[in-house]
Amino acid sequence: MSELELFGRFPQTRTLARVELGQFPTPVAPLERLGSEFGIPNLFVKRDDLSGTLYGGNKVRKLEFLLGDAKAQGYDKVWTVGAIGSHHVLATSIYAREIGLQPAALHFPQPITAHVLDVLKALSTTQPELTLVGHMAQVPMAMAKIRIKEWLARHPDVYYIPGGGSSLVGVLGYVNAALELKHQVDQGELPEPDVIFVGAGTCGTLSGLILGCHLAGMKSRVIGVRVVDKVIANAHTAATLANRCGHVLEQLGVKDIPKIRRQDVTILDNYIGPGYGEPTAEGARYERLVMDLEDLELDPTYTAKAFAAIIGERARLDLAHKSVLYWHTLSSADLNDRVRGAQVEWDLPPEYQHFF
Ligand SMILES: *Cc1c(COP(=O)(O)O)cnc(C)c1O
Repeated sequence: MSELELFGRFPQTRTLARVELGQFPTPVAPLERLGSEFGIPNLFVKRDDLSGTLYGGNKVRKLEFLLGDAKAQGYDKVWTVGAIGSHHVLATSIYAREIGLQPAALHFPQPITAHVLDVLKALSTTQPELTLVGHMAQVPMAMAKIRIKEWLARHPDVYYIPGGGSSLVGVLGYVNAALELKHQVDQGELPEPDVIFVGAGTCGTLSGLILGCHLAGMKSRVIGVRVVDKVIANAHTAATLANRCGHVLEQLGVKDIPKIRRQDVTILDNYIGPGYGEPTAEGARYERLVMDLEDLELDPTYTAKAFAAIIGERARLDLAHKSVLYWHTLSSADLNDRVRGAQVEWDLPPEYQHFF
């Protein structure tokens, strides 16, 4: 396994704690059929779906630093938060178990789709401690209660991971990802992208990529496709996350950290449809098409909307004459065994049973 680009390029960062969970670098590949279908001859994909064998997608890069940090500090339990179909909660729970940490999560509802139910089933096999609230707005209060309860239980050894894994430590995973991409460009695996499209939820992926591209000296414009409420995904949040993460690197001794301004962040608002987790008709269409033409699976919540943005912006951004990278953030790890073997009546609390 090759060393992280971040460590190679900035040896000062080798003091950062990390556990190896995934397989890097992830491949890049041309999407020739989709490209010719839509008149984008230079369309490529970054296969972060292949980031891990137990579970892939964009959370693995974040979790290598997050769970590494938890381990290094001697914690034995991790709490995190997300919607019931959250890939982040699933990834955290799978990999926490893998390295001997007890997983726990605070859940809030989201529209039920077949994909959401599969995620819940897979999650149940990792037997996390779960708390479900009735609405996303109740999360902050419920999280405060959990912290008090853990503290009263004299259980201070809990590591708290924010939604989406987008803490400063988590964002470092995507700074590294941009440096990894730069290396692939230098190796001639793809042209330097003019534009990179990626789904934007908690903005950790987006902000890490923006900072990383600047650090690597790439001119690529990273475009976040908003799939959550504007309160969570916006240019201010993304720029702040990027700059704070840059500050972490600065404190480790990395020089010439670029400052990310709000104007450096592009977030598209037109592809979310009715809301988070609500499938869109155009998303569903591209899900089928991308599967048929490239054998690549998209999901309704994130990647179908991110992909729809590429097609939707084709004319406005003149993508026919640009080199375009679609950053694929969905896991393609095979969860069939987990899903089939799930015993939700046993492994999920009673208040979850009506979802099935
Ligand atoms: C979590 C997730 C995202 C969003 O990533 P953020 O860093 O939270 O913005 C995008 N795509 C998929 C498939 C995800 O699971």
